Amino acid sequence: MLHTPILVVGGSLVGLSTSLFLSWHGVAHIVIDKHPGSSPHPRALGFTETTLEHYRAVGIADQIPQVPAGTRLRRVTVESLVGDWKSEQAWTPGDVAEPVRRAEQSPCTGAAIAQDRLEPILRAAAAKGGADLRGSTELIDFQLDQDGVLALVRDRANGQQYEISARYLIAADGAGSAVREKLGIPRSGVGHLGVLRSVLFHCPGADAVLQRGAQQFSIEQQGFRAFLTTYGDSRWVLMLDGDAERTEAELQSVIRRALGADIAFDIITTGRWEMAGRIADTYRHGPIFLAGDAAHQLPPTRGGFGANTGIDDAWNLAWKLKRVLAGEAAPALLDTYDAERRPIGWLRHQQTFSRPDYAARAGAAFKPEPLFGNDALEFGQLVRSAAVAGAGPELPAAAAPGEWAGQPGTRAPHVWLDRAGRRMSSLDLFGKEYVLLSASEAWLAVAGELGLQPVAAGGDLAFPPAQPFGAVFGVPPAGATVVRPDGIIGWRSQAAPDDGSIGELAATLMR
Ligand SMILES: Cc1cc2nc3c(=O)[nH]c(=O)nc-3n(C[C@H](O)[C@H](O)[C@H](O)COP(=O)(O)OP(=O)(O)OC[C@H]3O[C@@H](n4cnc5c(N)ncnc54)[C@H](O)[C@@H]3O)c2cc1C
Repeated sequence: MLHTPILVVGGSLVGLSTSLFLSWHGVAHIVIDKHPGSSPHPRALGFTETTLEHYRAVGIADQIPQVPAGTRLRRVTVESLVGDWKSEQAWTPGDVAEPVRRAEQSPCTGAAIAQDRLEPILRAAAAKGGADLRGSTELIDFQLDQDGVLALVRDRANGQQYEISARYLIAADGAGSAVREKLGIPRSGVGHLGVLRSVLFHCPGADAVLQRGAQQFSIEQQGFRAFLTTYGDSRWVLMLDGDAERTEAELQSVIRRALGADIAFDIITTGRWEMAGRIADTYRHGPIFLAGDAAHQLPPTRGGFGANTGIDDAWNLAWKLKRVLAGEAAPALLDTYDAERRPIGWLRHQQTFSRPDYAARAGAAFKPEPLFGNDALEFGQLVRSAAVAGAGPELPAAAAPGEWAGQPGTRAPHVWLDRAGRRMSSLDLFGKEYVLLSASEAWLAVAGELGLQPVAAGGDLAFPPAQPFGAVFGVPPAGATVVRPDGIIGWRSQAAPDDGSIGELAATLMR
């Protein structure tokens, strides 16, 4: 039997990101996946600034090619790939115009990288950080015991079964999560919407079409509709509504029809996807946490709410597990994972199906909600839990980032700073420890007493004149703000320290 603090079940995007973040926090763990490596059919392609910020913090962002700031993504309706454009659709249907310049919100831009190109980067970095990654290893069964979880796994290469005893288990085993099902955790949401079939093919001859400026193509012909896009590496995917099984000859025929010209291609593989909206009714059952698609199944959107939401789950959970395992926080800190992440899952579910493209599929029972802009969802979500002070129910679930100005429960704002001649993002100040940021000597002294990392705003840490610390973080000279290891503002005071505010801060740390 093996013993580990944490067993991660599922080594795809979310399991590997969890592993990477745990490694970065120095937490020993084992990751198992029933497959030997990445799926030959990539799914996700679009990764958001927030995901890239997390990867930047752990030091791998420079291995992931990011799209240049201001890149315009376009989706058009065409008769065929080489045919004339009939119309152009909004990239994010129903997106609300926001008075912010997106490139100013983050030190990162998003990335367009196929899942099977990204996963090896995550795998290598996690392994380098000490992760025990076990491919071809399947979770067969598990039970809860006094130590946490006892898992029975099978090495599919040799058929050997063995047990792993773990204090905690993270189920990143996808939408069909056997862990979630065994625990009997129900899911709610709009449910099943349909099945799609896809065919992935290699077609370098089609790449020239991209020079016209669109990346996604809705194909509309008499009696034939499909969706065509590329992974940017001469691999193209054709998505077909419905669950029809096709022969090789039929697949070649639909590809030719979609291309609209005699361009050479090789079929790589096919896929079958369920389109659905489902959120688990809890993300935690005792020592077991659900993350990624196991917790929230959402259809592909231009906001990237699938994998990106799951990677953010992992980011939220990793530091909490680290602190609890290290005895730096009370086990109750782990309750804040469900409290913070499940509402985010629901927010993204509601927003997805309130947008015009998916509203049509959601059915009459679904009540659309007012739409937030993409930037509000990407940079301005609010989390509420016992690990945040001052994020009350009166606040909206999201808002444009500039409107929050340092509101506890939101992501700490990004500003380019100068520290002793070195340019850095304010986000680079955070990551492993709680950071108390203040211009007040009195508060900086309190930080030392409470074991927080004090950072003096001012002095050798210069904010740009147009974005002074007080305005960006909403803190006057006498006050202070505390940013959690995940970059979420946990607490803020507008005044000099006193017993009341120090007590409130100490409670938020959940020791
Ligand atoms: C066509 C398509 C396009 C998409 N595009 C995007 C996009 O651009 N951006 C985005 O953010 N999201 C996108 N998504 C969604 C994204 O692919 C998923 O959200 C993401 O893959 C979920 O990752 P995951 O790690 O939670 O689960 P999965 O990727 O489903 O991985 C689960 C893993 O668990 C393993 N596993 C399962 N059971 C066991 C077991 N018993 N023992 C051991 N291992 C097990 C599986 O082998 C698998 O590797 C897209 C989805 C589709 C279908």
